[in-house]
Amino acid sequence: MAVTVKTKREIELMRESNHRLEKVFDALEKMIRPGISTWEIDQAARRLIKEQGGVPNFLNYDGFPGAVCTSVNEEVVHGIPKRDRILKEGDIISLDCGLILNGYHSDAARTYPVGEIAESEKKLIEVTKASFFEGIKYARAGHHLHEIGNAIGDYCESRGYGVVRDLVGHGIGREMHEDPQIPNYRMKSRGLRLVAGMTLAIEPMICEGTWEVDWMDDNWTVVTKDRKPAAHYENTILITDGEPEILSRTHD
Ligand code: MG
Ligand code: MG
Repeated sequence: MAVTVKTKREIELMRESNHRLEKVFDALEKMIRPGISTWEIDQAARRLIKEQGGVPNFLNYDGFPGAVCTSVNEEVVHGIPKRDRILKEGDIISLDCGLILNGYHSDAARTYPVGEIAESEKKLIEVTKASFFEGIKYARAGHHLHEIGNAIGDYCESRGYGVVRDLVGHGIGREMHEDPQIPNYRMKSRGLRLVAGMTLAIEPMICEGTWEVDWMDDNWTVVTKDRKPAAHYENTILITDGEPEILSRTHD
């Protein structure tokens, strides 16, 4: 699929879809506590997306059984919500969620602490988020795509973290996954030239240990090979001639 450049009208629709998703995340964040199951979080995500007038884009995507991916501790991404997966004090949980509104997709992810967590995991979450902001310094018209991933990868690796290579960010619009693919690690090539009007989902997946991952037997859940924790931070952004607009986040 070709890389799409959105019209003014499409950008407005992308903005609205992502703003509604932001509200879903605000409500989900408040639910995170010891004792709640990932199934309850998914039930809430389904309800909240509906209340926002949207349709979950993850639900039934290639058969995925939830509206939100719930990945705990060593689970990097694509964790399946389950009734018997109960969060406990000291866990970290990554929520990856999106919706479709008026035919346009939104996509974002956050890693949250469950109660009090270890210093090392606080640091992991901080570095993952900070790497996103390092990356998007280069997300503007005239720069090249791989400058984003080079900055993300260098930021994390120089601090001793592993950067997942098997999964990448992506273009987004009328489809959840459009071209281009957006690696989070240093590439030899420059990648395509960025143009105002591109909408991209930038999503570093960062590991406390090795970058290598395994797929669990459910064929969805991606876990770190060394079973050390991982974090995820994603926003849908709009490329402009100046600073990128973060469509899925208007506040901290
Ligand atoms: Mg996502
Ligand atoms: Mg994504």
